[in-house]
Amino acid sequence: MESCCAVPEIRTAPSVHVCSACGQRGRKVERLTVEHLLRPGLVSRIGETQYYFCETATCPVVYFPYGAGAAVFQKPDLTVRVGLKETEDPVPICYCFGITRKEIWDEIDEIGASTITNRIKAEVQAGNCACEVKNPSGKCCLGDVTRAVKDSLQTLPATAVTH
Ligand SMILES: [Zn+2]
Repeated sequence: MESCCAVPEIRTAPSVHVCSACGQRGRKVERLTVEHLLRPGLVSRIGETQYYFCETATCPVVYFPYGAGAAVFQKPDLTVRVGLKETEDPVPICYCFGITRKEIWDEIDEIGASTITNRIKAEVQAGNCACEVKNPSGKCCLGDVTRAVKDSLQTLPATAVTH
């Protein structure tokens, strides 16, 4: 008989695993992250295995398990919108401080630059972030913010004329 703490699959689970819905590889996500972001009532359905986060924009699956049999969780199962799977506002980018893609775009539209990255960095340094329980990917959002700022700086001058 195994001890209660032994979950062999978790120890042997690879750091990336293929999502059965879209066929793309997803990265490991902490159980803590999944527990915090699922709707109340769904937490008990989390399987005793390693879970992965599917980053494919068009895939409805958010968390999928290592191995068959355990529950798969899709977008409606979460209490937050998964920014990288949404195209319509609000598209959350930074979950800890509630910053959306539109806010980043609007600021760049207005002043031609973004102060958000520095604001987030300051908050992170002050120990105010909680990405592992707020961001569906469980990772720090700074990379996503930096990318959104960069994309926006590149595309805005061209799109600004249309509105
Ligand atoms: Zn997927």
